[in-house]
Amino acid sequence: MKQRLFLVLLCIGSVLFTACTSNQSHYEKSELIMDTLVTLSAYGKNSKIAVEEAFTRIEEIDHMASSENQDSDIYKINQEAGNHFVVVHPEVYKMIQTSLTYSKLTEGAFDITVGPLIKLWGIGTDHEQVPSEAEIKEALSLVSYDNILMNEKECSVMLLKRGMSIDLGAVAKGFAADEVHKIFESYDITNALINLGTSSIDTMGVNEEGKPWVVGIANPRAEELKPYLAILNTSEEAISTSGDYERFFEKDGKRYHHILDPKTGYPAEHKSMSVTIVINQKEEDCGLLSDILSTVAFVLGPEEGVQFIATLPGVSGIVTTTDKRLYTTDEFDQRLLSLNEDYQIIK
Ligand code: AMP
Ligand code: MG
Repeated sequence: MKQRLFLVLLCIGSVLFTACTSNQSHYEKSELIMDTLVTLSAYGKNSKIAVEEAFTRIEEIDHMASSENQDSDIYKINQEAGNHFVVVHPEVYKMIQTSLTYSKLTEGAFDITVGPLIKLWGIGTDHEQVPSEAEIKEALSLVSYDNILMNEKECSVMLLKRGMSIDLGAVAKGFAADEVHKIFESYDITNALINLGTSSIDTMGVNEEGKPWVVGIANPRAEELKPYLAILNTSEEAISTSGDYERFFEKDGKRYHHILDPKTGYPAEHKSMSVTIVINQKEEDCGLLSDILSTVAFVLGPEEGVQFIATLPGVSGIVTTTDKRLYTTDEFDQRLLSLNEDYQIIK
C-alpha cells in the first residue's frame, strides 16, 4: 500500500513537473487517466491540438471500457449478465471481439471474464485478500469466455450467466494507444512518443535529435541504481509490458499479483516476472495486440509464451522469470542494449 501511495505521489509530481510545455513545434502533456500517468509528446505544427484531442479520446475510451464507471458499456454488460444483450460502442465491441480471438487461441489463458476473480482478490484495492478455496471455486464457475455472446449486426454483447463480469484491464490501454496514433496521423504528426504509463507505448518516427526513440524496459525487481532491465532503440513500434510488480501484495512472504490464471483462479505462476511485447506498426491494431499479448505470454509462462508470440507476424518479445532468466523470441535479445547484468539470456 505504501509503495502504491509513493507511486501515485510520484505520478502527481510528474504531472506538475511536465505540465503542458509548449513551443512552436513540440507539445507534451501528462495526465493521470486510466489509472496511470499518460504522457503524450508530439512534434509538428499541429502538435498541441493533436495532443489535446488525443487526451479527450483517451477519456472517452476510459469512459466506455471501465468496469467501475456506472455509465460505461462494460458496467452495463456486467449489470445485465444473465438477462439482456446490451448495445455497445463499436470500439467496445472490437475490444471484446479481439479479446475473444486470443482467448480461443490460448485456450483461455487470456479471458476478460476474469471480473469475479479480480473482485474477489481485490488486488490494488484496500480490501485485497487471499480468498478461500471455496470462494475461488465459486468465482471460477463464472469465468468463461465461451459464455460471452456477441451479436455483430446489433453491435451488442451479453454475458450468459448472472454474476459474470468483463474486465478490460489488459486491453483498453493498448486500444487507446492505437487511437492516439490515428489522431496524430490525422494531424500529419510523424514524430511522437505515446506513453500510457509505460505499460503501453507507441513510437512514431524519431526523437528531437533525429534518432530512434530510446525506451527503458523496467527491471521487475528494480533496485534504485538499476531501474531498467535493458534499453531499446525503437521507431514505428507498439510496446507493452505486463509484470507482477505493477500491482501486488505480499502475505506470509508470498507475492500475489494482478495477472490471474483463469484455469486456477490464482495469480499466474509459471515463473514469469514480466513480459515485454514489441509489434511493428505495419500490423493492424498493434497497440491493442501488444497489450493483450503481454498478458497472454505472462499467463502462459516463459517457454510457452515465447513460443506462442513467435508464431505471430511482426511480434517479438521477452519474458523475464523469477530466477532472473530472459527468454526472447529469435534475435530479439540482440536489440537489448545496456542489459542488466543480474539477468541471464536463455537460448
Ligand atoms: P496487463 O497489465 O495488461 O497485463 O493487464 C492486467 C489486468 O488485466 C489485470 O489488472 C486485470 O484487470 C486483467 N486480467 C488479469 N488476468 C487476466 C487474464 N488472465 N486475462 C485477461 N485479463 C486479465
Ligand atoms: Mg495487457
